[in-house]
Amino acid sequence: VNISTLPSLDAALQLDPPVAIGVSGGKDSQAAALATIHHLNQLGHKGPRILVHSDLGVVEWNDSLPICRELAAHLGLELLIVRRQAGDLMDRWEGRWQSSIRRYSELSTVTLVPCWSTPSMRFCTSELKTHVIQAALKKRYGKQTVVNVTGVRRAESAARAKSTIADFTPQFINWRPIADWSEQEVFAAIDQSGLRPHPAYREFKMSRVSCRFCIMSNISDMQAAAIQPESHDLYHRMVQLEVDSTFGFQGSRWLADVAPQLVQHLAVDAAKSRARARVELEKRITKAMLYVKGWPTRMLTDDEADILAGVRTEMSELFGFNAQHLTRESIHARYAELTSEKERRLAA
Ligand code: SF4
Repeated sequence: VNISTLPSLDAALQLDPPVAIGVSGGKDSQAAALATIHHLNQLGHKGPRILVHSDLGVVEWNDSLPICRELAAHLGLELLIVRRQAGDLMDRWEGRWQSSIRRYSELSTVTLVPCWSTPSMRFCTSELKTHVIQAALKKRYGKQTVVNVTGVRRAESAARAKSTIADFTPQFINWRPIADWSEQEVFAAIDQSGLRPHPAYREFKMSRVSCRFCIMSNISDMQAAAIQPESHDLYHRMVQLEVDSTFGFQGSRWLADVAPQLVQHLAVDAAKSRARARVELEKRITKAMLYVKGWPTRMLTDDEADILAGVRTEMSELFGFNAQHLTRESIHARYAELTSEKERRLAA
């Protein structure tokens, strides 16, 4: 097995730390688990080993959890299943839109915030996988350093090409044992083990298996996911959020366009026209008025307050919000209130 490791990592493994392997049901984590256990056995590692699956809820394929269970049974390991307490990923995206409406209505933000995660703001991964898994491992292993294994491969993307084999922090050693494997090597390892890869690869023809619809899926994967009957409830719920929010799932690429046979065209067309109107309205807000860290950093001029009042009035009508602060005076008062709140916080 051509495993990616380092002398410093192998030295750490000789101390028998707990090893936790993150498994999603996808092929890379399956292969990483097989490779890791093989390597640990060769080293004579005697520490605890577990598989950890963060269940993202309705966005998951039906087969993902069973595939993780089969892997755990094959390796004779415990499968620890963890979930975000405050709701699953779909709840998080919907909740973010509700919070965006509230923050816009009370003038805690200048523009509406998109509900979806993006490749540069992957709160879906950080909040629903990384944090949840790390919290569970800390709870279980206390202050011990845990080796946290993931199936990241450098060939997957330009961003992942920069991944190291391992990085060391006081609490975690993050190890990527199949960093240099090709896709063929991954499938070969799974086939050799006698396990089945997730059916979404060979039966549904998906190139990646993660969330059914991922913020980074290519169009053919999204189309392949959308035609599966098991995806339809999720597809409708996600399209409804696009319609309500006017934000396309992948920015300019709307999930609604991926399987047009499944959607209500009138509702989608109306949402896209509201999206264009929103963008036009936001163009009236000057760069100097936009949200920055520590906002508001100054009071607005009367002209700026008038612009914002006009934009907020039209936006409120466009979306049917009951937004406050629709006049120059009210906007000035709100900025003054926010500024003094900020000063109080800084003084505390
Ligand atoms: S699979 Fe995609 S959408 Fe799902 S958590 Fe990962 S990055 Fe986010």
